[in-house]
Amino acid sequence: MKVWLKFSPKMVNQAVITHLIKKFDVNFNILRADINSKGGKMLIEISGNDTKKGMEYIKKAGIEVNLVKRVLKKDDKLCIDCGACISLCPVKAIEIDKDWTVNVKDKECVGCNLCTFSCPTKAIKIVGY
Ligand code: SF4
Ligand code: SF4
Repeated sequence: MKVWLKFSPKMVNQAVITHLIKKFDVNFNILRADINSKGGKMLIEISGNDTKKGMEYIKKAGIEVNLVKRVLKKDDKLCIDCGACISLCPVKAIEIDKDWTVNVKDKECVGCNLCTFSCPTKAIKIVGY
């Protein structure tokens, strides 16, 4: 599952993530991290037997946890299938179908936000950031 973690300034220097990995049976992958001394956000992909317990642990430690069903949302009414977003995606999460419609493979998306800047109609946005 993918999760946005929000760090307050006082949590930035805490070793909560290190403890999470040591204490629980979880696989942890950082997809995106925008964190400085003032706090910030991190998008992670987490799996393993203790995923639920691990999330409870970091919540109790003071990090805001937001599960995401979708990382990126595309409004099909606004999208004009221009394809401007496709080449910017570093993980090839956006593709064009045989019928020339543009689709996002949310499973692949790492929430980098690069594609949203290219969209002339503001049809795509990161969810939960
Ligand atoms: S947010 Fe980044 S990874 Fe996701 S579709 Fe856009 S460019 Fe690709
Ligand atoms: S840039 Fe925007 S309008 Fe163009 S294909 Fe991508 S989401 Fe659709």
